[in-house]
Amino acid sequence: MSGRISIFYGAVVNPQTLTSYDAHPRCLLAVGPSGNIEWMEGDVASHDLESTLAKYGCNNEELIELKEGEFLLPGFVDTHTLLDWLANVTFPMEAKFKDTFINAGTTTACYYATLHVEASKALADTVLDYGQRGFIGKCNMNHDCPSYYTEDSPEDSISNTRAILSYIRSLPAFMAKADPGLLIQTHISENPSEVAYTNELFPEAGSYAGIYDQFGLLREGTILAHAVHLTPGEVDLIQERGAGISHCPTSNFNLRSGIAPVGKFLDKGIKVGLGTDVSGGFSTSILGEIQHASMASKVLQFTADVAGSTNGVVKREGKFENKQLPIPTLLYLATLGGASLCKLEKHIGSFAPGKSFDALIVSPSGKRIGLWGSGEKVEPEESVEGVQRKDLEEWLERFLFCGDDRNIDRVYVQGRWIGGRSFAGRT
Ligand SMILES: [Zn+2]
Repeated sequence: MSGRISIFYGAVVNPQTLTSYDAHPRCLLAVGPSGNIEWMEGDVASHDLESTLAKYGCNNEELIELKEGEFLLPGFVDTHTLLDWLANVTFPMEAKFKDTFINAGTTTACYYATLHVEASKALADTVLDYGQRGFIGKCNMNHDCPSYYTEDSPEDSISNTRAILSYIRSLPAFMAKADPGLLIQTHISENPSEVAYTNELFPEAGSYAGIYDQFGLLREGTILAHAVHLTPGEVDLIQERGAGISHCPTSNFNLRSGIAPVGKFLDKGIKVGLGTDVSGGFSTSILGEIQHASMASKVLQFTADVAGSTNGVVKREGKFENKQLPIPTLLYLATLGGASLCKLEKHIGSFAPGKSFDALIVSPSGKRIGLWGSGEKVEPEESVEGVQRKDLEEWLERFLFCGDDRNIDRVYVQGRWIGGRSFAGRT
């Protein structure tokens, strides 16, 4: 095989379902020249390494060995982030783009860009230059917005949208075969006053979700951000139409919007991903969303318990409703769940032959915050020989709850190393 194949040997955490992930302490994973995963072997002991490589016509030269404590994780998917503030100050911010979004481990992001075509194009160029996988949405607004931030007419809005679409589709990296069709990103039921006002504007639609539905906007590939105050009928409608929900707990806490009942959505079979909602949220890190989604689910759990202790009824019928979201579920939402909102779950979100290698190398050897081990810099062991699945589970939990971007050593998108803590010193 050509030298352009890269083979990783070490621990791999691989999300599978809402309730399970694979954890292989000694995995061999080969990435081909296209950036897709060519093959994977779940458990290869060191003494079988050479013979396994030989079986695939490979040798040690292509090998990248992870150290003890390090592991590969699929890159995070941010299903709702607002880049208005970035797009309006494009050039000074470009250098920060990598620090802010890529080094935090986000390999795919759905950007809510700006009203302006040129700024949206600039954002698409930036995402492309830095090698991130991104969806850029031009905003369309002609109602209840400041006069300097509105489009002259619906016709203008449509032609501007066509302009940005054809621009993005003409970019060299745009792959028609990977085009999942147009995604739609919008907000729904973030807070009670917004819900009341929206329903007042479109009384004939019957509900907030009904408004989108009557315009054909509620469908697969529609990403609905927030969804904190949906009625049971709206939840059913969203489920029937196959639209997905972007859970943005940091923003929802920060703006005191409320807590989206994610467990209820999951019980219904609605697709759910995580979103940072910068700048409603205050961090660009999906790790923060994982932590806050966990907190949010705990609040719903004890609130249901408290209510149950007074009225004797704890509403907890399904597998997830009003229960703490366990680690496999949180991991799924941040990876495969987000990928499914973007209709990319066959390409990204987990590791499998044929899928894109969008990955993070997580490492404890960066400057660490106190709760991760002793708080001192610890050199990892060279060998992964004695590592067990339970060790890997522990590393994952520490990373999700005590880690930050200092623990993201490398970030890959489509097999290309594009960021991470050690990117500056790459060879
Ligand atoms: Zn938002």
